[in-house]
Amino acid sequence: MRILQVSAELFPLLKTGGLADVAGALPAALGAQGCAVRVLLPGFPAVLAALRAPQKVGSFTTPWGEGVDIVAGEFPGLGAAGGVLQAYVLMAPGLYDRPGNPYHDAQQSPYADNHRRFAALAWGAAHLAYGLDSAWSPQLVHCHDWHAGLAPACMAFWDSPQRVPTLFTIHNLAYQGCFAAGTFADLGLPASAFGVHGLEFYGQVSFMKAALVYADHISTVSPTYAREIQTAEQGFGLDGLLRSRAAQLSGILNGVDGSVWDPGQDALLAHPFGARKPAGKALNKAVLQAETGLDVLPGAPLFTVVGRLTEQKGLPLVLAGIEEIVDGGGQLLVLGSGDADLEHALALQARARPGRMAVRLGYDEALAHRIFGGSDVTLVPSRFEPCGLTQLYGLKYGSLPLVRRVGGLADTVVDTDLETLDDRSATGFVFDAFDSAPYRRALRRALALYRRRADWSRVRHNGMRIAFSWENSARQYRDLYASLISTH
Ligand code: ADP
Repeated sequence: MRILQVSAELFPLLKTGGLADVAGALPAALGAQGCAVRVLLPGFPAVLAALRAPQKVGSFTTPWGEGVDIVAGEFPGLGAAGGVLQAYVLMAPGLYDRPGNPYHDAQQSPYADNHRRFAALAWGAAHLAYGLDSAWSPQLVHCHDWHAGLAPACMAFWDSPQRVPTLFTIHNLAYQGCFAAGTFADLGLPASAFGVHGLEFYGQVSFMKAALVYADHISTVSPTYAREIQTAEQGFGLDGLLRSRAAQLSGILNGVDGSVWDPGQDALLAHPFGARKPAGKALNKAVLQAETGLDVLPGAPLFTVVGRLTEQKGLPLVLAGIEEIVDGGGQLLVLGSGDADLEHALALQARARPGRMAVRLGYDEALAHRIFGGSDVTLVPSRFEPCGLTQLYGLKYGSLPLVRRVGGLADTVVDTDLETLDDRSATGFVFDAFDSAPYRRALRRALALYRRRADWSRVRHNGMRIAFSWENSARQYRDLYASLISTH
């Protein structure tokens, strides 16, 4: 099967979150399942820097009159079995040649022409689907998140006797790509598309809604999130539409890319370790404590957060639980960036507790590896969580996840109680309500288990041996592609 994957990010070229990890891992995993995956990306500086053997395959003019070249090339090492990944890149320096974050400027303001930047991506996908490259065309286009959300609309209105089916994957329904109504004129779609049954959303243009209306199938990154987004609480105003498409909506869990995340092979760890040989874990912990200015205490349970510092990720709960951790003899380490208020509050708390709490503001991929490798607990008390990757990395690196029972967290972590300890299914700590009392109780359970060394080791071992491999998820995508292609 020939698949074109369309996304704005791709690890390791460009990453702002879990989307990049998925877009980077999926082509190789699908390659192992017999799919020929090519990717389409905007020509951001980091993407162009990695592209090898670029060759122009064609060009098109955007609805607002800008010429865009499509270049084919290769990303070494990102394809199946470490081979090359075949890629298409949009060459439009006026749209993409901006350093740093792909979506906003240094002041965190979204670029004013974002609707054009991602409409060009969508039209690029449609042109490739309908024959721009005479040497290769996809049988299905798989679009990720709102940045690629307009592509199913462009393809639905394409004048062609033969339809190329589309799959749209929601990585986070909270980010919808909404723009003022006046931007519709730039999109090149018929007027009928700007209505309640099209991409109009409370008077605005919504790229997310465009995808949910026009894609042949919608997937999201966990079965539980697929159900949750059909409710008013988690539907962000799109739950009615999602309910109406329930027959074409499913959830496929993300996996862990073993070529990037493997504690036994991880060159970023001072002391690689594994489920059967966990000794290196304690050594990594001492290195991590020293590096981050925490007291080097082997017996202090080290709780950590790696992620965006936002309300979604439960940072208000993390703040409310600091005393519980420190009074219980533990330590807290936070790596992330996000809301200024939360960053400030965390930094203030850390300053008041030298040796016991540390905060690293910013994005640091290597430190993230060392944190999973050296910590005892990975905190993910999210308000909502489409899949979540950090709890999966925590499991694999022997850092027990402590999570709220929501979205993909509910699908991937098993709470520790006598029954699950006994049948060896326990992998972490799970609480229900988004409230500090149940969160703090979960912290106390973690502290109590930590004092029972044999039980702790057993739960850690359970988690480390569960493989949330991409193989299983890629097989599900492959089967979904096959059924969509066969019905079109
Ligand atoms: P989301 O995509 O909602 O941000 P996920 O858990 O799905 O959350 O994915 C987050 C990814 O980004 C993980 O790979 C995580 O390790 C990484 N990450 C987030 N913040 C940081 C940071 N400050 N430094 C390094 N890696 C980070």
